[in-house]
Amino acid sequence: MLIVMHKEASDQDLNRVISRIEDHGWEAKPIPGGERTAIGVLRNKGPIEPGLFLDLPGVRDVIPVSKPYKLVSREMRPENTVVRLGNGDNSVEIGGDKLVLMAGPCAVESENQAIEIAHAVKEAGAKLFRGGAFKPRSSPYSFQGLGEKGLEILAKVREETGLFIVTEATDHEVCDMVEKYTDIIQIGTRNMQNYRLLRRAGQANKPVLLKRGMWATMDEFLMAAEYIMSEGNDQVMLCERGIRTFTRHSRNTFDANAIPYMRNESHLPIVVDPSHAAGRRDQVIPLARAAAAMGVDALILEVHTHPENALSDGPQSLYPEQFHGLVSGLRDMNINV
Ligand code: PEP
Ligand code: MN
Repeated sequence: MLIVMHKEASDQDLNRVISRIEDHGWEAKPIPGGERTAIGVLRNKGPIEPGLFLDLPGVRDVIPVSKPYKLVSREMRPENTVVRLGNGDNSVEIGGDKLVLMAGPCAVESENQAIEIAHAVKEAGAKLFRGGAFKPRSSPYSFQGLGEKGLEILAKVREETGLFIVTEATDHEVCDMVEKYTDIIQIGTRNMQNYRLLRRAGQANKPVLLKRGMWATMDEFLMAAEYIMSEGNDQVMLCERGIRTFTRHSRNTFDANAIPYMRNESHLPIVVDPSHAAGRRDQVIPLARAAAAMGVDALILEVHTHPENALSDGPQSLYPEQFHGLVSGLRDMNINV
């Protein structure tokens, strides 16, 4: 349920509503907005009688929220959420009016590799550097990432290039370490329903890029985001990265339908990862262009200077020149990058 306050409602009016919610053992979640302040009611077991709040001063309306997810829903917050990184000259907004590019290798392999790729993607227009230090690999014999050493390299990349960093936390134990080094905590497809990790990320004071489980319905995906937000972190981004289907012509299938659906259902910024959706280099740029044309807020792409020697996901990594070409092509499409 959402309690919408009058524009002129005082702090005292607001506090009275919050007390009434808490008196019933529920949780009150104030949601300030440009036009109105609203208060979400959480943790109620059944429907709530609107009359319980309609008589309180300052209350304009009481709206039942029909979805199982609440904090992520557009019903609760009509305005788009904007995730802000940095400040002043070196800042970036995800969910603002520009398409944000996040690019880099699948995995951090060495300092030279990371710095070389970072310079290349920065020059082409990327604002964030991506690269895994902890890699969730399908095979236990594959490269698992450099761990903390990889995070130190990412910190050097930020220092040297000014790019912000996005990197994955593979479980709640490494989340402390990842949170310390990164600007955005990535939660990968395999962990979308790792509730302990989701809760831990919800307690972090860094934004979270949540990837959709490769098998997940939209309800499951949005409920996973709700886990993070329910712990107090409202800086969450939803990332479509392709789902498993019966096709063999790509690693995954880019679920384009998910983009307008999420836009309708949620106020959270939308990110698309065409690299993992495609799994092969020749399909990455067309998917990226399609996502940009649909008005997503950011793209996260794998780029490698020597993909043939990459320790993970080489076949889907773009060469820097291709990434450059993609950015010029987006500008030709009148996309604000
Ligand atoms: C990645 O970004 O390198 C990654 C492992 O992504 P996903 O979780 O989407 O497979
Ligand atoms: Mn990868």
